[in-house]
Amino acid sequence: MNVSHYKDALLKKRAELVDTAGLNSLQNSMEHNNGRQGDMADQASGNNEVHIQLRLKQTDAKILQAIDEALMRIEKGAFGLCRDCGEPIAEARLNAIPWTRVCITCKEKQKA
Ligand SMILES: [Zn+2]
Repeated sequence: MNVSHYKDALLKKRAELVDTAGLNSLQNSMEHNNGRQGDMADQASGNNEVHIQLRLKQTDAKILQAIDEALMRIEKGAFGLCRDCGEPIAEARLNAIPWTRVCITCKEKQKA
């Protein structure tokens, strides 16, 4: 499996979500105000994660969380394994939803 392909997809989606939340403009304004508003930037940086969560819609925040978990699984070498049954998740499913935690079988069980 080409994990780096999924990592790229995850990072791209993550950037989209973070961009939607307006974080990028926040970061840009911090860089542009370099020095002058250093105190404000320092205060803001500690609370960035909280701000992202608040700015994001509920569903987007959940996806962002799942993306971070998926990226962690990539680091651990456990990407693409179902959280519930441990079986490999079908690549077609990973291509559609790279941040999915469970295989299609377990997903169906959740719904039932
Ligand atoms: Zn499963």
